[in-house]
This record gives sequence, C-alpha cells and structure tokens, in this order.
Amino acid sequence: MTAEFEFIERCFREPFSGLRAKHAGLLPVGIGDDCAALELPKGERLWVSTDTLVAGIHWFDGHRLDDVGFKALASNLSDLAAAGATPVAFTLNLAVPSTAFTQLPDLAQGLLEAATQYDCPLVGGDTTRMVTGGPLTLSITVFGRSSLAHMGFLRSSAQVGDGLWVSGLPGLARLGLLLEYQRRGQLSAVLPEAEHPQFNAFLSKVPEHITQTAHDRLHRPAPRLALGVALRGKAHACLDLSDGLSGDAQHIARQSQCQLILNEDALEALWSKALGQAYTDGLADIHGWWLQQVLIGGDDYELFFSAPETASMATLASEYDLTCVGEVVQGQGVLLHNPLSGLRPVQSQSYDHFQPWASTP
Ligand code: ADP
Ligand code: MG
Repeated sequence: MTAEFEFIERCFREPFSGLRAKHAGLLPVGIGDDCAALELPKGERLWVSTDTLVAGIHWFDGHRLDDVGFKALASNLSDLAAAGATPVAFTLNLAVPSTAFTQLPDLAQGLLEAATQYDCPLVGGDTTRMVTGGPLTLSITVFGRSSLAHMGFLRSSAQVGDGLWVSGLPGLARLGLLLEYQRRGQLSAVLPEAEHPQFNAFLSKVPEHITQTAHDRLHRPAPRLALGVALRGKAHACLDLSDGLSGDAQHIARQSQCQLILNEDALEALWSKALGQAYTDGLADIHGWWLQQVLIGGDDYELFFSAPETASMATLASEYDLTCVGEVVQGQGVLLHNPLSGLRPVQSQSYDHFQPWASTP
C-alpha cells in the first residue's frame, strides 16, 4: 500500500467506518471506490453545501488541528441547518504541505468528533500534496436531506411584517476571538488600540463561565440542526451567522428587497441577561461599544431568520433559546433602532476575502 493509501485508511476509512455502517441504508457505497453513492428515500430532496478553509486565513498558526477539523465540519453543517436540512454525509478534500503530514491524525480526530456528534458520515474525498510552502487547505462538501415539500428558507423570502429572530447569544464567538488574540499578545490585529481600554473594562465584568463558553463557541461551534428542522414551514428567510450579524442581515435585506430593523434594546437585553448584574453595574459607559462588537463579530453559527408572528413561534422561542431582535419593513438596507435616538444605518464590517485590505480575521 502506498503511503497515501495507508494514510487514508488509517485516518479516514477505518475511524469513520462505524458511523458509515450505521447509515449503510443511505450510503450503499463509501470510501475506497471511485465514487460514493447516496440513496435518498423516495420523496426527499438532496441539499449540498461546500466550504474551503486555508491555514493562515481561517485559523491561527499553531492552532490545535482537532479544533480546526471540528470547526470545519461544524460550520458546513451550519449551512445545512440554515436550509432546514438534515445531514446525510460529507466529503473531504485535502491539500497538504509535507510539514503538516504529522498533524493530520489530529485533524481527522476533530472531524470524527463533529461527525459523530452530528451524525454525519464521511463518504469520500481527495488527498493531494501541496507544493512547498503552500498552506494546509481543506474543502468539505456536506450533503443533507429534507422532504420534497420543504423548499428551504431563501434569503430572498423575507416578507414585510415578519419578525427577525436569532438563536443563542450572538457576539459570543467575537468575545472568544478577542480573548484568543489577547492571549497571544496580538489584540491590535482585531481591535484598534484606542478600543483596548473598553475591552479590558468589559472583560473585568464578564463572568468566568461566559469567557469559557466564548472560547468553546469560537473553536467548537454548535450547528443549530434541530432548530433548522423545527423551522420548516415557519421561517421565511434564514441564514447562519458566519460573518457577523450586521453584514449577514444585509444579505436578506438585499435579496428580499426590504428593510431590516434591528432593535438595540433586544440585542443588549440578550447580553444583559447573560452577564447578569455585571452588565447593569459595570457596562453603562461601554455597552454601545460592545453592541458594535456583537454586530460585526463572525463565527457564531447561530441561525438568524425572519418569520411571521404566530403562536407556534412563541413555543419554539422557549424551546430553542430564540430572541426576537427586530422586524422586516418596506425599504432597503439594515437599520438599528434605539428607543432614545431613533433609527440609524448599521455599519457592516464583515470579513471580505476579496477586499484588498483583508488580512487574517
Ligand atoms: P481516485 O484516484 O479514483 O480519485 P483516490 O486515490 O483519490 O481515488 O482515492 C481513493 C479513495 O479514497 C476514494 O474512495 C476517495 O473517496 C477516498 N479518499 C481519498 N482522500 C480522502 C480523504 N481526504 N477523505 C476521505 N476519503 C478520501
Ligand atoms: Mg482522487
């Protein structure tokens, strides 16, 4: 057996074989042949999403590769969640510089952990050597399923009168990112020097369990797959928050040709609830600053969606930790509403790979 095949066998075929066997009914052919085969029950639709992650752009130098693997799959599964689809399987393409070969078992381990947690078997892929100096690059394609009746939650489907909802605590991964850069003495790379005092004031108030959860959320996101399924027939437009609420909301406004109004009060109430008394006591001067961080922070992988007001939304809200943070109205763009100062345009600062000034996020 060549080193390449031995490697595929040891890292991917063998460790994932149990998960694949569990789903043999949907996966008649898996790793080892020219093609894998997926078999959907009659009356079901196949959903597909793909993402590429590059060392130095999507993760830090020296980052734990098991976390990279976990996040790579989890963020792809989050796209399925945003479509209301259930995972069927994924494929994995690797371009590996020779210096990274020894780290691949760790990468595979993180992938296996996410695959097991979210029940998504690996069915194939491709492995190639990267030219000297090239960064480790991985591409994942996930396949999901739903009934034919479910058409997804298109970004163009928001309707005037819909409420805007978010799951969990948006901004948590931003806190994790700021903490990570601070730990590495590189905070200035993601936060202007002038804002460091605000961050330190904020940090001194954040309870330990929140900083721990922020760290976990950044490295091991939790795709909201069950929520995505629960939203079938209820949500209109939906997306997962990968680039930051302010920027992601713009996608829905533009594609639905309507205006999204985000309520500052509602977003602040989320953090006030999470931080408890510390928020009221210690953040009076800087809550506006933190709100801005919440709006631009990426990597939360929470679902953000529009839905008409119905009694069943209230039930879902308590079951899935959902908060209504705004509404869809006639117009265009995304505005922030403050009960004292009224409406103002939201500043969007999402990460854009095609901007000439884009650097490591
Ligand atoms: P081919 O030359 O026909 O494309 P390969 O030699 O690339 O086949 O791959 C052999 C088998 O190993 C295929 O079934 C392929 O899906 C699987 N494979 C290769 N690389 C990976 C990987 N990184 N993850 C999972 N399966 C892989
Ligand atoms: Mg190949």
